[in-house]
Amino acid sequence: MKVNGILKDIFIADGHCDTVHHFRGTAGYNFSKANNIGHIDLPRLQKGGVALQFFALFVEPEFKPFQALQRTLQLMEHFLSEMKKNGDQIKVIRTQQDLAEAIKQQKLAALMSLEGAEALEAGVEILQIFFRLGLRGVGLTWNQRNGLADGVSVGKAAGGLTKLGKTMVQEMNRLGIIVDGAHLAPRGFFDLLETSTKPVVISHANAAALCSHPRNLSDEQLKALRDHGGVVGLTVFPDFIVDEGPATLADLLDHFCYIAEHFGTDILAIGADYDGIKNTVEELSDVSKMPLLLHGLLERGFSKNEVKKIAGENLLRIVRSTLPKEEVIF
Ligand SMILES: [Zn+2]
Repeated sequence: MKVNGILKDIFIADGHCDTVHHFRGTAGYNFSKANNIGHIDLPRLQKGGVALQFFALFVEPEFKPFQALQRTLQLMEHFLSEMKKNGDQIKVIRTQQDLAEAIKQQKLAALMSLEGAEALEAGVEILQIFFRLGLRGVGLTWNQRNGLADGVSVGKAAGGLTKLGKTMVQEMNRLGIIVDGAHLAPRGFFDLLETSTKPVVISHANAAALCSHPRNLSDEQLKALRDHGGVVGLTVFPDFIVDEGPATLADLLDHFCYIAEHFGTDILAIGADYDGIKNTVEELSDVSKMPLLLHGLLERGFSKNEVKKIAGENLLRIVRSTLPKEEVIF
């Protein structure tokens, strides 16, 4: 998983994609082969030099709330079977040991996460069985309200984490599941930082100071996230980069520079949101273009060390400090 030239030896991690819905839902798509459809498949991940990819299970709104659990299980099966099929090149990581093995064997590390936790509303047992099935990341909400918290589209009246939401976060901390606060309304975001004993990930969002989209993080949120030891994965979605019109790589780099300047480089990561968005920054039209982002960071004056942190080491820090060391025997 190495990129040529100046980017050699840089570990690239992407904290969010919605590619799983293509696995059985998109005619003509084949994850194992290079596709003209979508933004991610195995050959393009390899071409982009990606070494760790979070795969979100996104439960489509039409299944919520009553069919959320069954839809999540279907998507889990789609994910796990596809990963197994490509097991010679990909390894699903459930433990720190798995991660170390994936790196050693030069396999792409794949982390299964959930985007929107409606399926968990029935109680902690659901989270526990998901953990046994290999789930290692949970985004508490998508844009709506659910039994754990309110998403950003609830608007000004949005509340924080519910009692169940707090219980779930504590259980995720205990089990070794990464908590993802992307899509949370601000009150829930601050409740999450207060509740979680482990650093959290905001897997895909940008800086609200440069683009006023409600999904982006305010300076107050970025400061609190930094102080808590968390990371934010910046996305290539133009709507989160500029207030109007198409966005370029230069516009996205402005977000990296702004956050680095005000909050340091330990908070920065990549969460491109490939296959979850209708359009991208022109230059980063799919995951194979990832090295262009790193070149751009170098050109903007980030040191090689800083680029390494942003490209993957910061997200790795969270993965390593959260995932269980080795397989838990039940
Ligand atoms: Zn999302």
